[in-house]
Amino acid sequence: MSRWLEVGPDNYVLTTQGFLLNTGLVVGTKRAMVIDTGSGPRQGREILAAVREKTQLPIVVVNTHAHHDHFFGNAVFADDGVTEFWAHENCAAEIEDTGDGQRRFVAAAEPEMAGGEGIDVALVVPNAIVRDQPVLVDLGGQTATLFYLGRGHTDGDLLVGTGTTLYAGDLVEQGSHPSFEDSYPEDWANALRHLSALRHRYEFLIPGHGEPCSDQFVKTMASTMTTAVRQATQATRETPDDATKAIPILPYGPEQSRWFIKRLQETRAHH
Ligand SMILES: [Zn+2]
Repeated sequence: MSRWLEVGPDNYVLTTQGFLLNTGLVVGTKRAMVIDTGSGPRQGREILAAVREKTQLPIVVVNTHAHHDHFFGNAVFADDGVTEFWAHENCAAEIEDTGDGQRRFVAAAEPEMAGGEGIDVALVVPNAIVRDQPVLVDLGGQTATLFYLGRGHTDGDLLVGTGTTLYAGDLVEQGSHPSFEDSYPEDWANALRHLSALRHRYEFLIPGHGEPCSDQFVKTMASTMTTAVRQATQATRETPDDATKAIPILPYGPEQSRWFIKRLQETRAHH
């Protein structure tokens, strides 16, 4: 039986095992929108089967960003007849460029996807593109707004807002530290402040991983990251030769603090 959690009328979230990905489902009268498709054909099929317990309507897919656990299930949906795959332009470009290189991350859970051989292991690059302006997708009786708040967790994080619910992708993570590997820490802190200001418009906020989040959670995540940017900036100014000195003072685990500093330095160089 499916484990959909209802978050607003005809808005749902399903958490799958492994990466603990939250997949969103928004059901209109004409079409349904699936937000993130899982880490390969196995998980994609599990998600599609759960979707089909809720609705038989034609589906449109959204990928919130170009990380393997969010888009490797696309081929399963393409096989089911889906032709409309939405993403931010930077996300689509990243999937095209690095998609094959990300296969190694799913070797244990999705061996066919990792090996690139079998059914539904092709990369399906999003073909419906969002740029800086929001895009409204009419599902019949329900409209989903796809929008971009600038760089953050990656350079192509897309958010999906409905009348009740904001699906935030990995811009918001609950239950674990944020993932900074491909991030833009200063921009992410700004995006979170922006997101926090929008939070009151929605009854529910669904993170990419973890439990639905309160206003306070998003505020805290935003202020924590803003403080971390300031702390790391100050520490690297004081000891420019050894930025790792800042690791213990940052509010994240050692691994993620290391990534935070690395990405802060790399992405600053572009300013
Ligand atoms: Zn991610």
